Order: sequence, then structure tokens, then C-alpha cells
Amino acid sequence: MTEYPHLLAPLDLGHVTLKNRVLMGSMHTGLEETSDWNRVAEFYAARARGGVGLMVTGGMAPNREGGVFPEAAGLFTPADIANHRIVTDRVHGDGGLIAMQILHAGRYAYSPDCVAPSAVKSPVSPYAPNELDAAGIEKQIADIAIAAARAREAGYDGVEVMGSEGYFLNQFLVTHTNKRTDDWGGSLENRMRLPIEVMKRVRAAVGADFIVIYRLSMIDLIPEGQTWDEVLTLAKAIESAGASILNTGIGWHEARIPTIATSVPRRAFSWVTKKLMGQVAIPVITSNRINTPEVAEQVLADGCADMVSMARPFLADADFVAKAAAGRAATIAPCIACNQACLDHTFSGKISSCLVNPRACHETELRYDLAETPLKIAVVGAGPAGLSAALVAAERGHAVTLFDRSERIGGQLNMARVIPGKEEFHGLVEWYTTMVAERGIETRLNTEATVDALNGFDHVIIATGVLPRDPGIPGQGGSNVVNYVDVLRHGVAVGDRVAIVGAGGIGFDVAEFLAQKGESPTLHLDEWKAEWGVSDPAQDRGGVAAGGPRPEAPARDIVLLQRKAEKLGKHLGKTTGWIHRAALQMKGVQMIGGVNYERIDDAGLHVSFGPEREKPQLIECDTVVLCSGQEPARGLADELTVQGIACHVIGGADVAAELDAKRAIDQGARLAATL
Ligand code: NAP
Ligand code: SF4
Repeated sequence: MTEYPHLLAPLDLGHVTLKNRVLMGSMHTGLEETSDWNRVAEFYAARARGGVGLMVTGGMAPNREGGVFPEAAGLFTPADIANHRIVTDRVHGDGGLIAMQILHAGRYAYSPDCVAPSAVKSPVSPYAPNELDAAGIEKQIADIAIAAARAREAGYDGVEVMGSEGYFLNQFLVTHTNKRTDDWGGSLENRMRLPIEVMKRVRAAVGADFIVIYRLSMIDLIPEGQTWDEVLTLAKAIESAGASILNTGIGWHEARIPTIATSVPRRAFSWVTKKLMGQVAIPVITSNRINTPEVAEQVLADGCADMVSMARPFLADADFVAKAAAGRAATIAPCIACNQACLDHTFSGKISSCLVNPRACHETELRYDLAETPLKIAVVGAGPAGLSAALVAAERGHAVTLFDRSERIGGQLNMARVIPGKEEFHGLVEWYTTMVAERGIETRLNTEATVDALNGFDHVIIATGVLPRDPGIPGQGGSNVVNYVDVLRHGVAVGDRVAIVGAGGIGFDVAEFLAQKGESPTLHLDEWKAEWGVSDPAQDRGGVAAGGPRPEAPARDIVLLQRKAEKLGKHLGKTTGWIHRAALQMKGVQMIGGVNYERIDDAGLHVSFGPEREKPQLIECDTVVLCSGQEPARGLADELTVQGIACHVIGGADVAAELDAKRAIDQGARLAATL
């Protein structure tokens, strides 16, 4: 008997049966744009072998004007169809099913040629769209239907019509973006005409025995978004127009409410999909912040949906479903919803990967093949870099000994996990703990690795991490000054008025930690909804609470400072930085850039501004917390070098500047893949 009876139950769609209720949701990985079709095929085939019921590709453009960016991939020529055949053949060979997403970006397209119902520029795009005339609308519909027919020709098992997230079809639905006065705008009937017409024409183009998923925006999370009645009316009409499945879309890209970031509670929006259950006869899929088989199973058991979509969890672990089915869920590499290697890459024009799994989207190039000769490898430091190196080396058959002076593994991850909104790091440390045992790695915790102890290994990997940087501020030795390690690791008491020196990732984290009273709203959905102003679309248009966000009062008065005269948090994650800034603003955290630190005394932190050190100001506070970056902890590496023992230095011990877990894990894995 499986632990996941709902999740692993087949789903009969009439002409085809899905082997389970798991959809790998669409992700733009950038792979299709590499033109390396073997690499694209291997990415999807690996997930097919991992047992997922149905996969959806990244969004394919139906035409040039609808592409997310000008060179966005699509099915434009016979050669494109042949290339996609390579993917579908490989997936089918590995027992999988795959649908192609058709994504028309409308006014979100990054091009001056972008088109939309009305010439209303989006706040997240530099280009005002060109308003379509009636013939232009007809062309878009025809192109989408042709793309669907080509997908069938290319061997796909279905298509997903992207009708949510504020893209083209969605843009017709709301008066915010549709100002038309012809048959395509005005009344609800007119605004719904385009999605319904698209659905009918797609169904006509592909025939009855083909999966057509329609991704429907169930909560727009923008002012003037759809009401629930409108969503429901559209859902029923899309069903009548021929959809096989309705998938859930949550929020437009321009929404100022987070929808998938790590601080969003798990399954935060399954209640929205649940409102549709029983209202349509076709299966309904729910989505967003579902990242373990337990959560997915519970969502289905609670009757929130017929099927669950997970996207990023399949970057973290291609074998998610197979491991769950085998009763080995603890070995599933967890997606921590950080966006650091996936969406942040996508939005920087880089190929996606995964912080936790550097092989994601690099399957053909980064391989963990069994080593020809098993070696004895010592890894010093059980933080992200060391753990990554140790796991990959052990997977390849080497005998690995892992040293750490701490009583537990995880390194800096143990500080991240105490930050409100970063609770997913608990799961990551647990996973590393499971895998270290699973791979037979010998751990020597509470152990200072000495040069002597490291003698006799074939390779020594130094992953000793970082030490807090000394900012050298006069008076920093006072009893009212602590650093982030004291606060996050040792629980040192901090007063009611705090000045934080340094506004990098850690300065922001410390500010969130010190601002939070009691438990994190990430663990309490109703509190989180109130904090961000999420409401029921049956009550407030678009699910945007009429009263706006209602954050809890902050636990402390906090001032966050940096020397650079630029916006604080500018270098945080591309897709998540705004969330951290908004969260601190809601807690009344004052952010000051362009300061010189003059001194600290009992009254607080004295700063000045500019090269002339003008405008002296006292930041009155009880505690100053130093978060001024880090330096490599290289003492052991230097000692080994002096003794003539070769070693590999990785992670923060190698380069502390701009160190983050993504780079550390990637570097550890890539080194271990070569030994
Ligand atoms: P960081 O990002 O390098 O920031 C260091 C901060 O200290 C900066 O604000 C810097 O600003 C300031 N600073 C540098 N030298 C200073 C000095 N001598 N005196 C006073 N202030 C000084 O380092 P971090 O915050 O320690 O973070 C370490 C790594 O962890 C980073 O890679 C970070 O991205 C990662 N991390 C990421 C997240 C995330 O949310 N993605 C969260 C936590 C950590 P000024 O030079 O302008 O004063
Ligand atoms: Fe998940 Fe982060 Fe990996 Fe993206 S990079 S898949 S969010 S763990």
C-alpha cells in the first residue's frame, strides 16, 4: 500500500490514461533556444524515466510577435517540427507523455513588435504594445491553432494553452488591459471571446484524441482583476469549447504579491482551485508551492484538485515520483523555492538550473559516472560546498570522509533556516543528512581536521567556508555590538532599537529575523494572506484585499545601512529582491544608503555622508548588528600547502565575495564529478 494513494492514482482522460496525478508544470529553461536538441531531449527524458504522469514544455511562441523575446523558440518551420520530434520520441521511448505549451506573451513580449488588445504598457516591460485590429486578432488565433496542429505533428501528446499569468489571452479578460469597444472588449462576453475562440480553434486543429490543457487565471492578484463569477463563467465556457483539463494560474507577472517564492506558504493557493471543483466535469489541476509528495497528496485528499502541478521540484529531482512511489520520499532533493538558479537565470537570459541540483538542464554535460578507481577523499567542512562535493564523490563510488568542527552538518544553511520565510532550508538540511547516511559517507563531526588527520587521503577538499568580515568601525568592541553569527546561530539577545551594518543578503535576512514577532507567516496561511493583502476573488476583484496589506507590527525598530549610495537590496535575487524589500518596508524598516560609519558608542551608531563626511547623524539604537560580508576561512588550506599536501579549495573558502549556496553547491559538484 502506497503512502500516496491519491497522488499515484491513474487519471483516465478517455483516449489516454495518465499513470498518476502529477504534472510537471511548464518552465522556461532556455534549453530549446540552445538548438542542442539532444540536450533538450535528455532533460525531458530524465523526468519521464522518473515517473511523472505528464509533462508540459516551456512556452513555445505561436508567432514572432507573441514570443516572450524576439528569438523565443516555437514551431515555425518543418525543421522545428523535426527537432521537437527528437524530444517527443525520446520521452515516449522512456515511457513518458509530454504536452507542448503555447505561450503568446502579448504585451509582456520583450519586443517593440508586441501586440495586445489595447496599447497599455505593462509595468514590467519596456515596450508599449501595438493594439491589434480585428484582422490582427484573427491572425493571432490562427497562429495559435496552427502551433497546436504542429505540436501534434511533432509527436506531442497534447498542448497547454497559456491563458494565465497576465499573458495575451489573460489581457483580453480584464478592463485593466482591454479598453476595446468592438466585439473583443467591453462586456464580459466580449472580453471572453478571444480565449474561447482560441480554445475552439485549437480543438478543431488537433482533433478529439489529443490532450488540450487550458491554463486559467483563477486569481489575478491585480487591481481590476477578474471576479470569481467571471473566472467560473470562463472555466465553464472553456470546458464547452473543448478543453481536456483546466490548469491553475495564480497571479499576473506584474502582481505585487509573491506567488511562488520561498516565503509563500506551501500550497498557498490550493483553496482557489478548490472553488472550481464540482463546477466543471473535466479534471482540474492545482499549482504553486507544492514541493513534497506529502503536501501534494494532502492537496488531493482535501479535494482541492484532481491533479497537482509541480515545476521547480522537477529541477531539484527528476526522480520525484519514482522515489515517492518506492517509499523513498526522504531521498527526494527538495526544491526550496529560492528561484536562484531557475527563474533568476531565466530572467537574466541564462539557462536554468537548480541550486540543489546543478545537473538540472546540464544532464548531458555534467555527469556523475562511476569512477574507474575508487579513491579515499577527505572533505573538510559540511556546509553547502562540502556536502555537495561529498555526495557527488560518494555517488561516484569514492570513499568519502566528511569533517566538520560543528556538532551538525549544514554550515551556513543552519543560519538561513531560522529566517522567517526561509523554513524550506530545514528540509534541505534534512535531505543532506539523509543522503550523507544513504551514500555511506563517514562523518566526523565535532572534529577539527588537522594536517595529520588529512594525511593518507588521495584527495583533500577544503570547504571551510567563511568568517565574518571586520568592518573596523571605532567602538565595535562594545557590548552593544554583535554580528550575524551571534544573532542567528547563538541566539544572542538584541535590543528593541537596532542598526544593521551591511545590507547584503545576510543584512536583509537579519532584518527580517529581528522584525518578526512570533512565528513566521509562512507557516500560517491566513496571516500570510493578511500580510500581503490576498483575498477571495469572490469578495474582492482579482483577489486583492480592498483594505490592502495588513502586516503584523514589527518586533523592533530597525535601521538597515550600507555605504553604497544605491537602492538597498539592488543585488538580491532578480525575481525575489522586490519581495524582501517590500517585506521590510511593510515592517517599517528604515533603509539608508551612502553612509560612512564613524563610530559606535552607548548612544548608538554615528554615521556621516559623502566623501567630505558631512551631515553627521546618530542612529540611536540599543544594538548594532554587523553584517558586513565575509572573508574566506583558508587557514587549513594554507597550512596544508605549507606542508606540501595538495588540496582543492571550494565554496566560501575559495571566494567569499558574492558567495552564495548556488555557487558553492555547483562548484562542489563539478569538482567531485572530475575526481
Ligand atoms: P554581501 O552580499 O557581500 O553583503 C555585504 C554587505 O556588507 C554589503 O551591504 C556591503 O555594503 C557591506 N560591507 C562590505 N564591506 C564592508 C565593510 N568593510 N564595512 C562595512 N560594511 C561593509 O554579503 P552577505 O550579506 O554577507 O551575504 C553573503 C552571501 O550570501 C551573498 O552572496 C549573498 O548573496 C548570500 N545570501 C543570499 C541571500 C538571498 O536572499 N539570496 C540571503 C543571505 C545570503 P557596502 O559595501 O555598500 O557597505
Ligand atoms: Fe527550486 Fe531553487 Fe532549484 Fe529553482 S533553484 S528549482 S527554486 S531549489
